[in-house]
Amino acid sequence: MSDAYPITEHKFDVVVVGAGGAGLRATMGMAAAGLKTAAITKVFPTRSHTVAAQGGISASLGNMGEDNWQWHMYDTVKGSDWLGDQDAIEYMCREAPAAVLELEQFGMPFSRTEEGKIYQRAFGGMTTQFGEGPAAQRTCAAADRTGHAMLHTLYSQSLKHDTEFFIEYFALDLIMDKDGSCKGVLCLCLEDGTLHLFRAHMVVLATGGFGRAYFSCTSAHTCTGDGGGMVLRAGLPLQDMEFTQFHPTGIYGAGCLITEGVRGEGGFLVNGEGERFMERYAPHAKDLASRDVVSRSMTLEIREGRGVGPRNDHIYLHLDHLDPTMIDERLPGISESARIFAGVDVHKEPIPVLPTVHYNMGGIPTNYHAEVVDLKQGDPNAIVPGLMAVGEAACVSVHGANRLGSNSLIDLVVFGRAAALRAKDVVKTGEAHSPLPADACDEALAHLDKYRYASGQSSTASIRDNMQRVMQEDCAVFRTSKTLLEGKDKIGAVWDQMPDIKTTDRSLVWNSDLVETLELDNLIRQAVVSMTAAENRKESRGAHAHEDFPDRDDDNWMKHTLTYFNDKEGVKLDYRPVHDYTLTDEVEYIKPKARVY
Ligand SMILES: Cc1cc2nc3c(=O)[nH]c(=O)nc-3n(C[C@H](O)[C@H](O)[C@H](O)COP(=O)(O)OP(=O)(O)OC[C@H]3O[C@@H](n4cnc5c(N)ncnc54)[C@H](O)[C@@H]3O)c2cc1C
Repeated sequence: MSDAYPITEHKFDVVVVGAGGAGLRATMGMAAAGLKTAAITKVFPTRSHTVAAQGGISASLGNMGEDNWQWHMYDTVKGSDWLGDQDAIEYMCREAPAAVLELEQFGMPFSRTEEGKIYQRAFGGMTTQFGEGPAAQRTCAAADRTGHAMLHTLYSQSLKHDTEFFIEYFALDLIMDKDGSCKGVLCLCLEDGTLHLFRAHMVVLATGGFGRAYFSCTSAHTCTGDGGGMVLRAGLPLQDMEFTQFHPTGIYGAGCLITEGVRGEGGFLVNGEGERFMERYAPHAKDLASRDVVSRSMTLEIREGRGVGPRNDHIYLHLDHLDPTMIDERLPGISESARIFAGVDVHKEPIPVLPTVHYNMGGIPTNYHAEVVDLKQGDPNAIVPGLMAVGEAACVSVHGANRLGSNSLIDLVVFGRAAALRAKDVVKTGEAHSPLPADACDEALAHLDKYRYASGQSSTASIRDNMQRVMQEDCAVFRTSKTLLEGKDKIGAVWDQMPDIKTTDRSLVWNSDLVETLELDNLIRQAVVSMTAAENRKESRGAHAHEDFPDRDDDNWMKHTLTYFNDKEGVKLDYRPVHDYTLTDEVEYIKPKARVY
């Protein structure tokens, strides 16, 4: 251990990094199973980005029309553009109704139907009769503040069990042993600057997405993909990083989200000619086509000169034709956001909107038990012992090339629970921790020191700004061979600026300068691998729309991309097969076909 840094050691059976929806559901289940559990989080649990989720959580409860999990599975596979693993998708859709009823029993305040059942609304890409029937009402909602209700419910439940929370602790790096298993995680206590090594038989990364790699995104400033950064530094891969979801309706300028629930309740998009253009692009689903389709259609309208506003550079979202009482009851939050951020009264005027970065389909590859996997000696499903990932940080992969709205919140609770069930099987309560070599934390400390004492010329904010602008320009809704190649060079040049970074605060107590720099390191690694993976994939699938390769190419590209990042050698690419099998024989493998809405 370093002389310069005294390190306090803590011993737990399991350590969960992240206290959003995924982390809290995992924590709760693990503590309930009798495992000695620590939950580490850089922000107070109920400030995690999950709190901002609006529209709802999907589950085929069938409260407002016929529904079943097989239809939900079909929609999810189609939404993923056949890149999702069908065993994992079956698991999620099958478990979803029970997971939502569990939240109800925990006291989550859902909106209600006349008969007192959980209220469900329509959402993009959610249909009935295997895509042949009308839209499904499958998205369970607590007005337009579903994430808020869910996160508070899960936090109060996790306090019921014997969990130790380490709040405002920043996880720096994973501690791995020589044969590649995870032994713990090194953290910085933000309040007093002390270092803490958390030993665990299982470390669960539930650190959320990395939306902040982009200039305009709907996610919180804390969404810096720290888990993905730690995984890359540990020599492990990230999966399908080329797939970034743009939500069709971010408020023009501010970027904050207007939920798809607005279109689920009857809202629609209009171009500069007053036309409901989605009827042309998706004659069947119209404004409720999947997000990649709607975002692309909006971008095309704008590019062809049919945008709205003085610069014809955005689109209008109308809900002024809807019943004002319904708006006040079901969509109070977005009415407030529209008033504050766009100066619009939604009862009278349309909201100016633009596609905005919203969700990372890519992440840490796992199986449906939440165990992290890596390629080993030809085995694409080899497990990394001692390491799990859940939530937006993970890539199970249930969302494949494009996530359907309301399928993330259900992913959090289904796979958070799955992680706890698996940990209960593989971790023995109270088992002793093997001793670590004296230099176990050296690499992590060197990483910390590099930025703590960084004395170059470029500020963290300026490098971050460069990164965000390159990603916004060149890793956007539409991609061409030319923009992606240029993007790869440009993001490489930003990465090359990192050794020239300058931090000014050398202390360790509430050093936001240092923490933002560590977050930037995590972000930029993921920006580099995202751009490289996007440049590499010569087809169009889901959110990856390549203008020079406009079609999906299942013969060559029905496979997951793996990206490794080594400081010296840069990015290395590899692949894993998509799971083209289901979990049980209660449902058949859904064969690929053209994806039309
Ligand atoms: C505005 C908005 C609205 C959305 N609406 C919906 C919706 O209606 N339905 C839906 O299904 N999905 C929705 N999504 C997506 C969904 O909310 C997210 O994908 C999901 O909440 C992510 O949850 P999580 O638990 O993985 O991570 P988060 O909720 O982001 O939590 C991450 C946790 O990790 C911790 N952490 C991160 N880094 C570190 C570190 N270095 N050290 C210690 N702790 C760390 C943080 O403190 C935090 O507790 C929405 C997303 C946004 C941005």
